Amino acid sequence: MNSKKINIAGAGLVGSLLSIYLKQKGHEVHVYEHRPDMRKTSLDGGRSINLALSDRGWKALEGVGLSEEVRKIAIPMYRRVMHAKDGSLSFQSYGKEKQAIYSVSRGGLNARLMQLAEERGVHLHFDEKCLSAELEKGTATFKHKLSGEAHEVTGDLLIGADGAFSALRQQMQKTDRFSYSQQYIEHGYKELNIPPGKDGQHQMEKEALHIWPRGSYMLIALPNPDGSFTCTLFFPFEGENSFGTLQTPAQARSFFETEFGDALALMPDFDEEWTANPTSSLVIIRCYPWHRGKTALIGDASHAIVPFYGQGMNSGFEDCTVFNQLMEEHGDNWPEILNSFERNRKPDADAIADLAMRNFVEMRDLTGQKAFLLQKKIEAKFSDKHPDKWVPLYSMVTFSHTRYSEALRIGKKQDAIMKEIMALPEIEKIWDSEEVEALMLSRL
Ligand SMILES: Cc1cc2nc3c(=O)[nH]c(=O)nc-3n(C[C@H](O)[C@H](O)[C@H](O)COP(=O)(O)OP(=O)(O)OC[C@H]3O[C@@H](n4cnc5c(N)ncnc54)[C@H](O)[C@@H]3O)c2cc1C
Repeated sequence: MNSKKINIAGAGLVGSLLSIYLKQKGHEVHVYEHRPDMRKTSLDGGRSINLALSDRGWKALEGVGLSEEVRKIAIPMYRRVMHAKDGSLSFQSYGKEKQAIYSVSRGGLNARLMQLAEERGVHLHFDEKCLSAELEKGTATFKHKLSGEAHEVTGDLLIGADGAFSALRQQMQKTDRFSYSQQYIEHGYKELNIPPGKDGQHQMEKEALHIWPRGSYMLIALPNPDGSFTCTLFFPFEGENSFGTLQTPAQARSFFETEFGDALALMPDFDEEWTANPTSSLVIIRCYPWHRGKTALIGDASHAIVPFYGQGMNSGFEDCTVFNQLMEEHGDNWPEILNSFERNRKPDADAIADLAMRNFVEMRDLTGQKAFLLQKKIEAKFSDKHPDKWVPLYSMVTFSHTRYSEALRIGKKQDAIMKEIMALPEIEKIWDSEEVEALMLSRL
């Protein structure tokens, strides 16, 4: 294989990981990152921010030999713990015994990927903001933030891993027959913290993802290794209960007392954090094609989704796995690699975007409902008995490498069957009967 000079804009999670895959194939790889080197500075004011990593992400990390090391610092979350308003708890396993999603530090993982990239010979350049590009040539102009100087970067291939507001994608948007959509959802989010208890231990069940489902909004919490939890409130920007109506910490506190009392009791710095932590928006980006000439997009730059399935990074990491497979298949035929990549991944990116919105409704609303928990119990039992016939949608997305588009297709079929099952008279009494099992089998 001919060694190429490949430039990447963005040393985020996906850009850093992709750079290692490209280096493994013998290319000269340069990554230009807009921010300073996160390994030397704390960008989040010392806050812990975590992400849920699952099987697609693990596979991609395995491909560069990093999964074992990350596993040591990741916290398994085996189930959802739902907190009702009165503080009572209910539980729902994510998968079969020992199946878990993993809470990992976003900054820690990103920094480790950068470190590995550098150790393997990738050239990292910080404080470099991509301003524009000549897409057909794969040439980009970067401005160094400290010196203020702009310079041109040339190479055989230019890759935009520069996130949801990608500068390279913006350049593509100006070209003919480039389709693009950007949708802000009506909810935003704010992060809050539950610190460790006096003994340094987690103050709620550690190996779980906690949810306070409240219909049109929700609070969630993921554990951190230091004994704290990062909580995220997903909440409308406008309306009766919204960021718009909670203007002061006192208003927010009073709302939390009613809605999330048990969580608030564990947040000693609530007032300060409510004021200091930003309220951020959530956007869905779709576009096509994903390359023009010698410039290509990957990760959030080509498909940003809402975070409710915990699959944004995982799908970006899966992009890297697929990109690597295509390099193996097509060797030096770069036009074919780029064409196959976008053709192959676009339906899956669209599917996970839809699935993520759908999971928002499930998390914020349905997980608080008895009927939904019963439905999940029926599905789990049926799946245990007939694993070849029924894999629950959540498991297909999270614990398998089934294409997202295929998971969505099968999930819709399962929905129709479960709607019929849940409508059976006295389903709560007959849920584990042979009659229910036979009906499900007959519908498959
Ligand atoms: C609240 C929230 C929770 C989430 N939780 C999860 C989760 O649990 N699991 C999961 O899988 N995903 C989750 N995600 C999604 C995940 O964060 C993203 O999908 C992932 O970060 C995408 O990685 P990326 O490298 O493509 O983009 P980014 O992480 O955005 O990285 C882009 C990089 O490019 C740099 N950059 C930007 N512009 C330029 C420029 N002009 N020039 C040079 N560099 C530039 C940026 O500084 C950044 O370093 C969550 C997202 C949010 C918002």
